[in-house]
Amino acid sequence: MLENKVAIVTGSGSGIGRAIALLYAAEGARVVVSDIDEKAGNDAVSEIKQNGGEAVFVKADTSNPEDGKRLVDETVKTFGGLHLAVNNAGIGGPLKQTGEYPVDGWDKVIAINLSGVFYGLRYQIPAMLKSGGGSIINIASILGKAGTKGSPAYVAAKHGVVGLTKAAALEYADQHIRINAVGPGYIVTPLLTESLDDDVLKALVGLHPIGRLGTGEEVAELALWLNSDKASFVTGAYYNIDGGYLAQ
Ligand code: NAP
Repeated sequence: MLENKVAIVTGSGSGIGRAIALLYAAEGARVVVSDIDEKAGNDAVSEIKQNGGEAVFVKADTSNPEDGKRLVDETVKTFGGLHLAVNNAGIGGPLKQTGEYPVDGWDKVIAINLSGVFYGLRYQIPAMLKSGGGSIINIASILGKAGTKGSPAYVAAKHGVVGLTKAAALEYADQHIRINAVGPGYIVTPLLTESLDDDVLKALVGLHPIGRLGTGEEVAELALWLNSDKASFVTGAYYNIDGGYLAQ
């Protein structure tokens, strides 16, 4: 479905991003796996190559605008252009209520989860215009549409991602660049399982009418369709993939 496309997936050493990178490569895209975790990123590239796909690793911190620019420059140098991007890298951040939330934790979550998406768009869009157009997905969350207690920076950043997605989508809708947001419910990834204990994870299952948490592979299927030409009339949209969470 993605033959002749060049794709960047940030935070693709692990979790949702890794599942997207693997699926994009299996569907024929040449994939730039990017992450701050060099080992995880190189491991994802090896897995893609073992499966017969094409990929390279570029280490980049999404909260650093210079890294955002270098990531795009290296992609264009390696593969000759850029058509698809998934701005996926993100962190959970501290779990504290607003009145006790650490200020440095706030700054870090906003830098990675919101400014990081802006730095991605800032350099991906000019490269896509030069490549004749493209499609970008920003990974938000159900917490980009609804609030929750004890994670104010994450909720604010993800709501910001949804707003930024709409603003940028309007600007480039008539220039062959589609920009959409995806909002996963709770997905079983290291981000989730390494920060929450088993009791909390069980309670989270109860928030999903479908009766379980999601998988990175399920999110990747939506991200495949949305960044493919089959979604050619879709831009500025927010798609939740959440086992019914937001329907309540
Ligand atoms: P994950 O398994 O922790 O994977 C994220 C990857 O991004 C990790 O390899 C991480 O490296 C890397 N990363 C962290 N900070 C980075 C930075 N500044 N620059 C580049 N890479 C960075 O997380 P995930 O659960 O797949 O989450 C992916 C995205 O989905 C995030 O935006 C998250 O907010 C969103 N999301 C997740 C869920 C969920 O339930 N899992 C639900 C809704 C939305 P390190 O391991 O070294 O930190």
